[in-house]
Amino acid sequence: MEFRIAHLYAHFLNIYGDRGNIITLSQRAKWRDIEVKVDAIDIGQEADPDYYDFYFIGGGQDKQQIVIAEDLVKRATTLKAAVSGGAVVLTVCGGYQLLGHYYRPHEGPELKGISLLDAYTVAGNRRMIGNVVIKRDDNSTLVGFENHSGKTYLGKDVQPLGKIVVGNGNNGEDKSEGACQGTVYGTYLHGSLLPKNPAFADLLLSQALQRRYGAVQLKPLDDSLEAEAHKRALVLPA
Ligand code: GLN
Repeated sequence: MEFRIAHLYAHFLNIYGDRGNIITLSQRAKWRDIEVKVDAIDIGQEADPDYYDFYFIGGGQDKQQIVIAEDLVKRATTLKAAVSGGAVVLTVCGGYQLLGHYYRPHEGPELKGISLLDAYTVAGNRRMIGNVVIKRDDNSTLVGFENHSGKTYLGKDVQPLGKIVVGNGNNGEDKSEGACQGTVYGTYLHGSLLPKNPAFADLLLSQALQRRYGAVQLKPLDDSLEAEAHKRALVLPA
């Protein structure tokens, strides 16, 4: 088996080491003897919608988002085709905000999103910074770190990734964090997200492999270190 990753705007949107998510998914695949191919796809570079199993966009400052927003809109059709073909998309913070309908920053024009997520974001008056714990519908928890002023509001076609236990989440108002619409995920959890959330990493990996190989049973790994890191992050102050 081969796991093909497209890391979009790797050189622009990688704040707080979000590429750690790529490293985690790659390593968890390799530990299962799955070959991994990671391509950094930059502004103006094509990404064949039938080729990649997984797409990642990290976070960044408003100015980096402005730089890539126009290019992302140009690739909306191919990304939507990839998702219809079963590809998984994970986006963090700045990348997440641009997957919605729009992001209205503090200054400058509103940035058009690509509406892969039924959500929109407007800049808030305070930065939401700190440790975050969320609880998912299956009662599992995800831990991470947030730093954003953007407030994201979810529409009716999207579910939150989880409910806030510690921290602010999407907007600091409705206790939602992140968004999940089919195989498209957005979150404010930097950290990076996946190293301390191994079960969620494996969920994304198995969903992405399903696109070309059908249901995949990933052999269990020794996640004792990851579980200990997760456990300690659960009790960090907000
Ligand atoms: N610039 C966006 C905000 O401040 C996203 C920040 C980020 O990616 N950490 O909300």
